[in-house]
Amino acid sequence: MADTYDVIICGSGSGGGFLAGQIAQNASVLIIEAGPYPAGAVNPGVGSPARRTLSTQMNLGTYIPNSTASNRGAVSWSYPMYMDQSQPSTVTVQREARIVGGGSFINVGAWLRPRLVDWDGFHDETGVTDWTKPLFEPHFQRAERILSVHRDLRQYWNKSSLAYEQAAIKLGIPVFETASNRLNCIRCGHRLDAGMPCKYDSLMGTAMTQIPKAMASGAKLVSDASVQQVIVQNGTATGVIYRDSTGALVTANARKLVVISAGCYGSPLILRNSGVFDLNPNVGNYLRSHPGAPMDVLLPGDDWNQDRGYQWNMHHYVMDQYGDPMDACVHAGAGFMATTPWVAASFRIPLFGAPYKDAMRAWPSRAGAFIFTWKPAVYGRVVGTVDNPVISYPVIGKDGLLEPKTLNDLISGIKQVGKVYESLGAYAMFPNPNDPISVLAQQVSLFVSISGALHGQGTCRAGVKQSNSVVDTNCMSWDVKNLMVCDASVIPNHISANPNALIMAIASRAGDFVNSQILGVKSSPTAYDEMLAAQAALAAQAQQEAAADAAAAGVN
Ligand SMILES: Cc1cc2nc3c(=O)[nH]c(=O)nc-3n(C[C@H](O)[C@H](O)[C@H](O)COP(=O)(O)OP(=O)(O)OC[C@H]3O[C@@H](n4cnc5c(N)ncnc54)[C@H](O)[C@@H]3O)c2cc1C
Repeated sequence: MADTYDVIICGSGSGGGFLAGQIAQNASVLIIEAGPYPAGAVNPGVGSPARRTLSTQMNLGTYIPNSTASNRGAVSWSYPMYMDQSQPSTVTVQREARIVGGGSFINVGAWLRPRLVDWDGFHDETGVTDWTKPLFEPHFQRAERILSVHRDLRQYWNKSSLAYEQAAIKLGIPVFETASNRLNCIRCGHRLDAGMPCKYDSLMGTAMTQIPKAMASGAKLVSDASVQQVIVQNGTATGVIYRDSTGALVTANARKLVVISAGCYGSPLILRNSGVFDLNPNVGNYLRSHPGAPMDVLLPGDDWNQDRGYQWNMHHYVMDQYGDPMDACVHAGAGFMATTPWVAASFRIPLFGAPYKDAMRAWPSRAGAFIFTWKPAVYGRVVGTVDNPVISYPVIGKDGLLEPKTLNDLISGIKQVGKVYESLGAYAMFPNPNDPISVLAQQVSLFVSISGALHGQGTCRAGVKQSNSVVDTNCMSWDVKNLMVCDASVIPNHISANPNALIMAIASRAGDFVNSQILGVKSSPTAYDEMLAAQAALAAQAQQEAAADAAAAGVN
C-alpha cells in the first residue's frame, strides 16, 4: 500500500528545501528529489566525507551529464534549449542542479535582493498587489538569519575586486558590496567554479540548513527519485507518482497538499505530465531568464588573489549616459575564465578542480567580471514532458544577433567594465570593448547562444486571475485543489537580481501560509513575529551594552 503524508514536496532546491524546513515541525512531510543526497553532519568550514568525495568527483568532470542530448545526468540536468532563431535546429544545453539542495547547493553564493522596480514589474505583469517590498521584508530577514547572510570583511576580498571597486567609484559608478551566504569559508579556491558544491560545507543552501532541520523533525527524504506526475482526483491533488532509484514507479499519497518545487523547468514539466496544462495554458509560458557574458582581462602585476576563488564581492549596475542604471549588472571579482565550468563545459574546456586552480595560479595577472542582463525583451516557453523536455528561449533573432535590448545592455556593460579595467592599466581584454560594435555583437550573441541563460523564472507565475497565471498570490494552483508551486517558476516577472534570495523569501511566505491556512497551526511564529522578536533582541542587546559602557565609564 502507498505511504501517506500530510504534505509531499517535489524538488528540494531553494524553494522546496526552504519550505520543508518551515513546515516539517507541523506535518508529516515527504521530500522527493531527482538528484543524490551526499549525507553527513553539516560542518561549515570542514564538510563531511561524503560531500568531499562527491565534490571531488564532480571536480574531475563526472558531473557532466552522461550525454549532452539527455536530461538524465547523475547530478545535473541538461535541458535542451532552443535560443537561436537564425539556426532553429541548433540546441543549447541548459544546465541546472540535480542534487538535494538544488541550485542553492551549487551556486556562487551571491545574495542580492530585487530592486524596487521589480516589485512594480510584478504588479504590472500579473496584477499582484500583495507582492510588495514591505510585505516580503520579514521573509528576506528570516532567510538571511537562517542562511547566515552577511557581508565579507574586506580583508577577505579578492584584491582585484577591491581595485575594481575603487576604480569604478572614481569613474562615478555607484558600487554595492555583495552579501554572501557562506559560513566559515576557508577561501580555498575550490569553488572558483560555481556549479558544484562547496567541498567544505560553507555554502549555506537548503541542504545545509532547512533540509536537515526538516529531517530532524521527521520529514522523509527520497533522493534519486524523479516525480513523474501529480495524481489529481476530482479536481484535487491527492498524491504523486515517482520513479525511484531502481526505476520502479512508486505512488505516495498526500492528505493535505502536494507542492511542486522542481525549478523553473522541472515544475511546468511535472504539471504538463499531470494534465494541468490542459486546464491552464499558462503552464510553461512566460519564461524569463538572465543571459550574461564573462569578461577576462590581463592587469599589470601578478598578485590579484584570483586563486582564492570565484568570489563576487561587489556589484554595480551598468550606468547609462544620464547616470541611470540599465537592466544589466556587473559582478567583479570573477577570475580566469570569468565563467563557470557549466559554461566552460559548453565550450568543452576541460578546466575542473585542480587543473582549473593550477590554471589560475599560472595566470596571476588575470582578473575578470561577469555581466548579467536582467530584462531581455523576450519570453520563452517550456514544453514536452518530464522525460522529454524542450525549452524555447528565442533571445537570438533571425539576424543571428541577440535581441536589440539585450544586446545593447550587454555591450554597454562590456564597454563600461572595459573603462574600469583600462583605468587600472589592463593591457588585454576579452571581449575587447574597443572592437567595432559589429564584432562585439557577434561575439556576445554567439556566447549566449552556446552557453544558455541562468536564473530561469516565471514559467508557473503567480497572478490575480487564472487567465494570466498558473498560481494565485499564495502560490496555490488556480486549477487543482491542494496543489502549490513553490520555486523560481512562480516569480511573476523577471527581476534585477540573482534570484536565490527572492526564491527563499517566497518559500518562507509560502511556509507561513501552509502552516496557518492548510495545516491549521495557530502557534507557529510567522516571519513577521520573528522579525519583531529579532528586533527586540537587538534592542535589548544594545541597551545592555549601553548599560555596561555607562557602568565602565562610572568606574573609570
Ligand atoms: C551555476 C549557478 C550559479 C548560480 N549563482 C547564483 C548566485 O550566486 N546567487 C543567486 O541568487 N542565484 C544563483 N543561481 C541561481 C539560483 O541558484 C537558482 O535560481 C535557484 O536555486 C532556483 O531555485 P528553485 O527552487 O527554483 O530550483 P532548484 O534550486 O533548481 O531546485 C529544483 C530541484 O528540483 C529537482 N527536480 C527537478 N525535476 C524533478 C523531478 N521531476 N522530480 C524530482 N525532483 C526534481 C532538481 O533536481 C532540483 O534539485 C545560480 C544558479 C546556477 C546554476
